[in-house]
Amino acid sequence: MNDATLYLVKLGEISLKGLNRDFFEKRLKNNIKAKLKGYRTQISKQKGRIFFEISNDCPQTTIDMAFSTTFGVVGYSKCLRCAKDIEEIKKTAALIIQDEPFSKGTGTFKSVTKRADKGFALNSYQIDCMLGEVVHETYPLMTVDVKHPNYTIFCEIRDKAYLYTSPKSGPGGLPVTTAGKGMLLLSGGIDSPVAGYRMAQRGLKMDCIYFHAYPYTSDEALEKVKTLAGIIAVYLQGTRLHVVPFTEPQLWIKQHSQIDETTLMFRAAMMKVANAISVKQEGTCIVTGEALSQVASQTLESMSFTDSMSEQLVLRPLVGMDKQEIMNLAVKIGTYETSILPYEDCCVIFSPKHPLVHPDKQTETEHYYHMEIEGLLEEAIAHTEVFDFGSDGTLRI
Ligand code: ATP
Ligand code: MG
Repeated sequence: MNDATLYLVKLGEISLKGLNRDFFEKRLKNNIKAKLKGYRTQISKQKGRIFFEISNDCPQTTIDMAFSTTFGVVGYSKCLRCAKDIEEIKKTAALIIQDEPFSKGTGTFKSVTKRADKGFALNSYQIDCMLGEVVHETYPLMTVDVKHPNYTIFCEIRDKAYLYTSPKSGPGGLPVTTAGKGMLLLSGGIDSPVAGYRMAQRGLKMDCIYFHAYPYTSDEALEKVKTLAGIIAVYLQGTRLHVVPFTEPQLWIKQHSQIDETTLMFRAAMMKVANAISVKQEGTCIVTGEALSQVASQTLESMSFTDSMSEQLVLRPLVGMDKQEIMNLAVKIGTYETSILPYEDCCVIFSPKHPLVHPDKQTETEHYYHMEIEGLLEEAIAHTEVFDFGSDGTLRI
């Protein structure tokens, strides 16, 4: 392809797959392609690698976004391809070191050659030495340091030779959609966007659901959740946010339950609604941002009770994580700054001062059904609004 740049994408866990590797690779190709939509892209596959030739009118930021946010990509790099001939390889190396980072011309370097084609006349060490000479000829001040080099020139001998100098990290994991679909309870706090990221990293596609108790929770709180949905949509390969009007059910629960069990009852009702909407969206699991013992509603007994309200499997990817670890991940994925905006979510406003910490499952189940809230929940489901976000994170109107 003319006027195009070649990128090499490294696969991690996918390479370990057996007969179904093709299935994972196809999903990965499609997920990346969706983020490069509108730009000519040619894709070819080799063992442990996928090559993307992307037309030069595609902005670098779009390319970096596509590779660095798509699960299944372990690393990627711009690269040059040439014939499997040592003179051609040396010429290509001379060309690639004209660019950053070698173009500085000083510091230390090493050469790393991998031969997927073991039949190639020279072994990796011999190729490395020749590439070293090319660097020395161009930049006499540069010295070799095999342990801690400033820069590395990589050479892979495959169907052709591929050279690159600046590999970047991808997010790892498995391509989204390969594990099926779920429903993420997205609250606007720090934890739930991170939970969504963690499950997407294992290949789960997710819709998001937010319970909005207007006017007890403000329009700003809803906007915050929409912003978060947009940020994680990039990792989730797009998402649909379901906004459930939850004021009536919350008020009903407040009137019809004991003060110390209101939070548990809110959670139970949320699970019921999330489960019902997930079934409709052909999902098969629920995802929450709960972590063991973080608050009263996240003790073993509380989670065991709320679990029983969902027919679908409830996944809590953060259950064993420390709050600081979760916050670090929130910073890394870009949700932290939005999550800490001050708008309270509905549970905080309706929360009792002394909630039940170790509820009895049977008693709470009886209390829940005694409230007869199902009609109100059906109403809420019927009035749920949806917002669709693309894999570029923008809201589709
Ligand atoms: P987060 O930081 O995700 O808000 P949290 O530590 O504040 O979590 P809780 O408010 O107890 O904890 O919520 C626990 C989980 O329940 C959240 O991670 C989220 O998955 C879900 N959740 C809570 N409130 C809502 C809401 N209003 N809409 C949707 N999901 C919610
Ligand atoms: Mg919260």
